[in-house]
Amino acid sequence: MSRFSFEHAFEIDTLKRLIAQHQAHFRHRSLLDFYYRGEALSVTAIELGAQDADAPCVLFVGGVHGVERIGAQVVLAFLGSLLNRLEWDTHLQALLRKVRLAFIPIVNPAGFLRGSRGNGQNVDLMRNAPIEAQEGVTFLVGGQRFSQHLPWYRGETMAAETKALIDYVTSLHQRSSSLLVLDAHSGFGLRDHLWFPHAHTREPFAGIGYVYQLHKLFEKGYPHHGHYQLAPQSHFYRTHGDIWDYLVTQVDGKIPFVPLTLEMGSWAWVRKNPRQLFNFPGYFNPQAPHRHHRILRRHVVLMQFLLDAAYGRVLERLTPSELSMLTAEGLRLWFNRGVR
Ligand SMILES: [Zn+2]
Repeated sequence: MSRFSFEHAFEIDTLKRLIAQHQAHFRHRSLLDFYYRGEALSVTAIELGAQDADAPCVLFVGGVHGVERIGAQVVLAFLGSLLNRLEWDTHLQALLRKVRLAFIPIVNPAGFLRGSRGNGQNVDLMRNAPIEAQEGVTFLVGGQRFSQHLPWYRGETMAAETKALIDYVTSLHQRSSSLLVLDAHSGFGLRDHLWFPHAHTREPFAGIGYVYQLHKLFEKGYPHHGHYQLAPQSHFYRTHGDIWDYLVTQVDGKIPFVPLTLEMGSWAWVRKNPRQLFNFPGYFNPQAPHRHHRILRRHVVLMQFLLDAAYGRVLERLTPSELSMLTAEGLRLWFNRGVR
């Protein structure tokens, strides 16, 4: 693994450059500072837009897994685009007066330096939250405590990066009227997947009505962008320690909270360029420049949709009876349930 170390901090440099260039236009702070192999690293959060507690919020997260560099790049590219539009884009200016945007482009900077999925101690942060799977966990992939030297290691205690993300999301949720999250990953399958909780159980997530509402609005508004497979993660595999599952069980259920995990289908890149199979980072990241641009623009519509949905308060405005109808629709679509 050390073959890739220290030469792949391009995303960390990009984030530093964005902060240096645009910091007058946003608030940024470090959620965590630490040293790894003599390098000073931090987990940085950036916030733009509305500050009042009544504002809807959208959070973009990347780089939970150090080897999935494209996730951080997609988040950084979108942030860079917004910052460059700020000066002239009056729609965006109006939106930011009403909506708070938050970004944590690189949750796991030590993993970026090491070129590893896990953090500096090889803990898989997405298996590390204090929540146990309830049934049918996939062997190893679901999270394991056999060895730190195998992937999907859960760790013995909560990693500092996990805690920093959990604490920050909890505080964002407490000061927002709704919270939408897009956490960008890569590496699962051929298609672009969008997963929502749960990962720890096959039981439906309480916010499924909100997910169904977003699904319906996106399908209607962008019928030619249906390349996402939207489903509960538990339809694919179950895991221990999923951070989003932990958070949805902890926060106040009255404030809409929809964490979505974008799993970019990187096996399609491998299929087009089988040599990537012999290059570990290449397995999770597109390597040809044209493919790279295509991935960076592929998700912009979805990301902009989340901003617009927050601005339109599409979740806050639902009446209890609308929400219960949407919940029934969601249960029917994703769980084959609810035939009354
Ligand atoms: Zn991942």
